[in-house]
Amino acid sequence: MIVFDKLKIRDALTEENVFELLHEWGGDPVPAPFGYICATICHNPPGEGSRKLYYYTNTGLFKCYTGCNAYFDIFELVTKVADIQWSKEFDLNDAVRWIAQRFGFSGELEDGSEEESLDDWKFLANYERIQDISLKDNSILLKEYDPTILERFNYDVKIGPWLREGIAQEAMERSMIGFYPGGDQITIPHFDADGRFIGLRGRTLCAEEGERFGKYRPMKINGTLYNHPLGMNLYNFNNSKNNIELMKTAIIFEGEKACLLYKSYFGLDNDISVACCGSSISAYQTQMLLDCGVNEIVIAFDRQFQEIGDQEFKHLKTNLIRFREKYKNFVTVSFIFDKNKITDYKSSPIDHGPETFLQLFKERIVL
Ligand SMILES: [Zn+2]
Repeated sequence: MIVFDKLKIRDALTEENVFELLHEWGGDPVPAPFGYICATICHNPPGEGSRKLYYYTNTGLFKCYTGCNAYFDIFELVTKVADIQWSKEFDLNDAVRWIAQRFGFSGELEDGSEEESLDDWKFLANYERIQDISLKDNSILLKEYDPTILERFNYDVKIGPWLREGIAQEAMERSMIGFYPGGDQITIPHFDADGRFIGLRGRTLCAEEGERFGKYRPMKINGTLYNHPLGMNLYNFNNSKNNIELMKTAIIFEGEKACLLYKSYFGLDNDISVACCGSSISAYQTQMLLDCGVNEIVIAFDRQFQEIGDQEFKHLKTNLIRFREKYKNFVTVSFIFDKNKITDYKSSPIDHGPETFLQLFKERIVL
């Protein structure tokens, strides 16, 4: 039995995580001096309540000023949302587990030892879109959205900020990167391995908003939220899977933009990049690559540490080692690890151009 420490997990949740959840649940959060204001998804289905649910960052508590008229924490909100939106009866433990698994926090076994691996099936069983997910030959078929929405974005406009960062126009075209003037957002469609349109994420160009809320979010247009369980797919796999199969190697980045940079620098025909769209790789994502016959998985995560040995460094190292332990019998796992700190804090190894990337790649750690 795996137990999660509620307080530890609440502490580990960032403001951005909370925002992401509120957004995902249709609460339509907006910033306020004290935190966020959003719709009362605590007692209403999304789109129906008034904007009377407040989140206070200093206490980590919500207050609903109408129906509930009470303070509660994120876990209680999960149980409320589970009831209203997923017709599921969650107790506190279910809620804590759901949050932990949603963000990839690990728990502890009851005897105090660390948990071996997260059970992705439990995660799936509780996931809000379970009704949209069906099993097909042991793989998961995510709900397909109507791709005609993609025709409404602007593809003629050159996306200046990204071109300046080194992303080639042809890389953007291959990945159908567009622009949605209504939201002042760069549009990033997500496709499954077979090219089905399963999600749409937006990168806001408003710097201030981007800083505060995390730069990438599922997009909501005309009442449809184009979200998908990120851990159940690999971004760009539809474009790179043939090369991955051929070269028997895959590079996993955290974010979509890294894949765009990779293929810009090394060519669309050499693209072996995917993005896990987060800072952890799910068992399902790994299996997608193993099924493709890879001999090596190169993990190319962001430099999420300031100094060698600091708290973030330890966290990153633990995660990477855990990943390797889990899969070492099936595949060679290597890590790009910027131990000499030649890239900036929080940047992807591809952010500083092809030469830096190649240097880091050559120096990757094969444990
Ligand atoms: Zn309420």
